[in-house]
Amino acid sequence: MIDRERRSALSRVVSRQDFLRAALALATSTLLRYVPAEAAESLEVSEVAPGLFVHQGRYEVQSPQNRGDMANASFVVGGDAVAVIDTLGSAVAGRELRSAVRAVTSKPIRYVINTHMHPDHVFGNTAFKNDNPTFVGHYKLARGLATRADRYLAINKQMLGDAAFEGIEVILPTLAVENSLTLDLGGRSLVLETQQTAHTDNDLTITDTATDTLFLGDLLFSVHVPTLDGSIRGWLALLDRLASKKTARVIPGHGPHAMELPEAIQPEQRYLAAIAGDVRRLIKEGKTLEDATKTAGFSERDAWKLFDHYHVRNVTAAFAELEWE
Ligand SMILES: [Zn+2]
Repeated sequence: MIDRERRSALSRVVSRQDFLRAALALATSTLLRYVPAEAAESLEVSEVAPGLFVHQGRYEVQSPQNRGDMANASFVVGGDAVAVIDTLGSAVAGRELRSAVRAVTSKPIRYVINTHMHPDHVFGNTAFKNDNPTFVGHYKLARGLATRADRYLAINKQMLGDAAFEGIEVILPTLAVENSLTLDLGGRSLVLETQQTAHTDNDLTITDTATDTLFLGDLLFSVHVPTLDGSIRGWLALLDRLASKKTARVIPGHGPHAMELPEAIQPEQRYLAAIAGDVRRLIKEGKTLEDATKTAGFSERDAWKLFDHYHVRNVTAAFAELEWE
């Protein structure tokens, strides 16, 4: 998937090491004692299809070290403009993503699309503000994010620390998608589609028709355990429909740069089905939520990273939903 050829094609993108070397050279020079503030470090990105670049986030929770770089973020370069899809979890990570765009093209960044409201996908929006893009999201994103903004900011300030939290602003979509919307990048179209409540109630998918690539956002987790913040029934139903979809590749919200259907979604289907099956059985047996959080879905423990961080919350959300079936 990420072969040597693609890597070498991306040699223009400044790697972290190159940057540090350059920064060190500047710092030790007698003439230039600092790196100008606007010269942001650039993230590593891979060109998974022509003009379609993906940065792979780390399988971690936010920390001062990762600066909120824990989700995948992408950009698509059209004939006259660029669309950025998700912006990572801080202003500083967002600026690095913007630098990666600028290392590839000087075309204007016309759209910044958020696949859903979670901070690891939207808190980098602020880095693109000066580009005056149209910020695009599911029509329910603005309400969801506005409602949670204070809590998201407080949690991230604490987890990222002051340096990585610096400059984060909540930027809501100025263009809301209801059902579907096509964006033109100049001879290249992105088709945006709202999805039913699944991972959240504001998941948006994006198809780059030029390369037959489907961006699934956090409807698809790979390696990183899924996080349930919408409806387990809705998510399983949506994955059932995706299984028969024909597309050249899908881009997960967390996981490798690119994957193929139906294999890509199978572990996630298995994980969610294990929770739903166990929780339904426990409810039938008259067991409590506390019982469920100790056993439901634990057969999946070794299959995922960050399981211990998110799994109990997933079971709790599933229990609350399935209790009322
Ligand atoms: Zn995410």
